[in-house]
Amino acid sequence: MIDYISGLNEPQRQAVMHGNGPLMIIAGAGSGKTRVLTYRIAYLIEQGVDPFRILALTFTNKAAGEMRHRIERVVGTDARNIWMGTFHSVFAKILRIEARAIGYTSNFSIYDTDDSKSLLRSIVKEMGLDDKTYRINSVFSRISGAKNRLIGPEDYLANTVILADDLAARMPEIGRIYKEYARRCFSANAMDFDDLLFNTNVLFRDHLDILNKYQHKFQHVLVDEFQDTNISQYLITRKLAAVHQNICVVGDDAQSIYAFRGADIENILNFQRDYGKENVKIVKLEQNYRSTNNIVQAANSIIRRNKNQLEKNVFTDNEEGSLIDLIKASSDNEEGRLIATSIFEAKMQDNLANNDVAILYRTNAQSRAFEEALRKVSIKYRIIGGLSFYQRKEIKDLIAYLRFTVNQQDEEAFKRIINLPKRGIGDTTIAKLFVVAAEHSVGIWEVVANISKYVAGRAGLAIEGFAHLIKSFKLMLDKKDAYDVAAHIAKASGILKELYEDKTVEGLARYENVQELLNAIKEFVDNPENDDKSLGSFLQTVSLLTTADEKEDDGDNDKVTLMTIHAAKGLEFKNVYIVGMEEDLFPSQMMLESREDLEEERRLFYVAITRAEKRLTLSFAESRYNYGRLKVCEPSRFLMEIDPRFLKMARMRMEAARPERNSDINNFERNSRDRNDMPSAGSMSFVKTLAQRTAQKQGTQPTGNHVPSADFAPSDTSGLTAGMR
Ligand code: ATP
Ligand code: MG
Repeated sequence: MIDYISGLNEPQRQAVMHGNGPLMIIAGAGSGKTRVLTYRIAYLIEQGVDPFRILALTFTNKAAGEMRHRIERVVGTDARNIWMGTFHSVFAKILRIEARAIGYTSNFSIYDTDDSKSLLRSIVKEMGLDDKTYRINSVFSRISGAKNRLIGPEDYLANTVILADDLAARMPEIGRIYKEYARRCFSANAMDFDDLLFNTNVLFRDHLDILNKYQHKFQHVLVDEFQDTNISQYLITRKLAAVHQNICVVGDDAQSIYAFRGADIENILNFQRDYGKENVKIVKLEQNYRSTNNIVQAANSIIRRNKNQLEKNVFTDNEEGSLIDLIKASSDNEEGRLIATSIFEAKMQDNLANNDVAILYRTNAQSRAFEEALRKVSIKYRIIGGLSFYQRKEIKDLIAYLRFTVNQQDEEAFKRIINLPKRGIGDTTIAKLFVVAAEHSVGIWEVVANISKYVAGRAGLAIEGFAHLIKSFKLMLDKKDAYDVAAHIAKASGILKELYEDKTVEGLARYENVQELLNAIKEFVDNPENDDKSLGSFLQTVSLLTTADEKEDDGDNDKVTLMTIHAAKGLEFKNVYIVGMEEDLFPSQMMLESREDLEEERRLFYVAITRAEKRLTLSFAESRYNYGRLKVCEPSRFLMEIDPRFLKMARMRMEAARPERNSDINNFERNSRDRNDMPSAGSMSFVKTLAQRTAQKQGTQPTGNHVPSADFAPSDTSGLTAGMR
C-alpha cells in the first residue's frame, strides 16, 4: 500500500485526516488542494466509510477520472464506487433516477447549446420578434444567467423591476421567451445544461423525501474548485450536507474566474456562516509545490493588486528558476512563429516532451496562428475546446438519431433527422407537422407515428417510412446494447451509406468520423466500469463531456496543448506560454465593465501564470487581424503589473523599417535587446506611462452597478461553458 500520509506537509495532513464536520481549505495555487482532496477520500475509505456514500464534485470529468485512479492505487477497486464527477454529470444521474418526481421520464434528452439556441430561434420567430433585436446569444445567456441564480420563468416575469437593466429594456420580451422555452423543453422531455442544476434544486425543494434519501446516503460531500461554484451548485451541496455536516470544500478565491456565469466568491464567506464559525475547521495551505520561486513571486505580485481577496502568503521552497520571458512580435502570425521556434528550442535544450508544454490564450479564436506555426516545425499539438469531435455535423446527425430513438419527444433531434438523409420532406411539411401537433395538443411523435390520421398525401408516405424506421429502432433498445443499436441505426438510417458515397476528401473524413463514433460506443460497452450499457446511458455520458474531456483522435498523447486559460484551471505544465498579452484582448474588452470585471481578468491572469512549473513565457503582438481589419495593439497592462524583478525582456524582433509609432514601445524595445538584461529604467518608464494611461482609460470606463454580465458571454463560449459540466 502507498504511504501517502508521509508525503504531506503538516496542514495538508491535518486536512486529509480531519474527522467529521465541515472543513474548508482555502489555499493558493499549486499548494496541493486537489492532492489533499484526493487523499482525504482515500483516507475516509480506509477509515471504513462506504465509497458509495462519498460524493466528490470536480471541475471536469477527466479530473474525476484522474482522482479516481489515484485513490484506486491506495484503496483498490473500491474507488470505482465513489460518486464522483462534475456537478452536471452527477446530478444528471440523480435526475434520471428521480425524473418522475418532477414530471420527466428517465430517458430525458440533454439539449446542448446548439439545441437550445435552435429552439430559441424558433420561439423568437414564432413570437414575431425581430432576431436582430433579440440576438439569440444574448437571449440564451440571459436565460442561462437566470437559471444559474435559480430564477425560474414565473419569477423572472414577476421580477422585471429587479432585473431591469439596459438589456431588459432593449429586449422586453425575454421573460415570455424564457417561459415558452422552459415549456418547450419540458414537453420535449429535455433539459439543457443549466436545467440539470436548476431541476436538481427543484427536486430537492419540492420532494423532501427524496432530499432526505440523498442527505442520508451521502455521508461525505467534497467539492474541488469551490470558488467557482454558483448559487445553484452551492445550494445543492448545502442541502446534501445538512444531515451529516461532513462537507469539505477546497478552493482559492484568487482563482475565481466564472463570475460572469454566476459563480460567487461570497460562497466562501457564506460557508462559515452556514455551518457556524465555531464548527468550521479552516486549513490554509501556503506552500506551493508546483512552480519555481520566480513564478510564484511573479504571480503574487500580480494578485496583490486585487482589492477583493483573502489574505494569503504563498511561498515555495522550489528553486529560483529562470526569469519570465517576454516575446514581442510584430503581428499575430509572427507571434505564432516565435512561439513555435521557442518551443522547438526549449525541447532541444531541456529535453522536453511535447506534452510538457502548453499555450494558453484568452479566446479560442487565437489558436490559428499557433496551429499553423507548430505544423510548420512539425510539432504535434492538441486543441482543447474549439470545434470538438462531438460538435461535428455528421456526429451530431447520428447522435440525433440515437437521441430520438431513446426519446421521441426530443423535438430538436427530430428537426435534425426528419429529412436526413433527404427523404423529400420539406420545411413546409415539417412546419405543418408542428402546427398539427399544436392544434391537437399532442407531441410531434404522436402525429408522425400516426400520420395517416393527421395528414394525407405524398409527404404522408415519406413520414410513414420515417416512423417505421424509428419504431424498428425502438424495438431494439431493451434487447441490445448501445453499440448494437447504434451500429444498426447508422446503417439503416442511410447515414453511413450517404457518407460512403461521397468520395471527396471531406466525405471520407466524415465517414471515418462516424466509424470513430461507433468505436467510441464499442469502447463504452466494453468498459467494465460502465454497468449500464444501454444507449441512453451512453448518450448521457457523451452529452456531459466537457471540453477538457475530449477524446484524442489518434491516441497519441505527446502533444503540445493549446487551450483557453479557463480550460486550464487545475492543470500544470513544465513550460507555459501565455500569448496575446494585449490590451482589449487580455484583459478582454468585452468583459471590462467595472473594477470587479478587471479583478476577474486579473485572477484569470493569475490562474494562467500559476499553471507553469519551470518556465513561463509571455507574448504579445503589435498588430493582429480582428473582424477582418488589421488592428494596432498595445501591450497588456498586466505586463506592467508584474514586478520587473521577475521578468526578462526577451526576443524582441527588431524591425528597423517599422514607422515610429510609439516612442514608449521603442524604448521598450531598445532596452530589451539583450535577453539577459534586467529591464532598465527606460523600459520601466514605458511601463509607468502605460500603467498611467491604462489607469486613466479605466477611469473612464462605466463603473457602478455590476449587472450580472449575462450579455457579456465571451467570444469563446464553447471553451467556457463547457467547463464544470
Ligand atoms: P490549483 O490551485 O492549480 O488547483 P492545487 O492547490 O490543487 O492547485 P495540486 O494540483 O494538488 O495543487 O498540487 C500541485 C502540485 O504540487 C502537484 O504536482 C502535486 O503533486 C504537488 N504537491 C502537492 N503537495 C505536495 C507535497 N506535500 N509534496 C510534494 N509535492 C506536492
Ligand atoms: Mg487543484
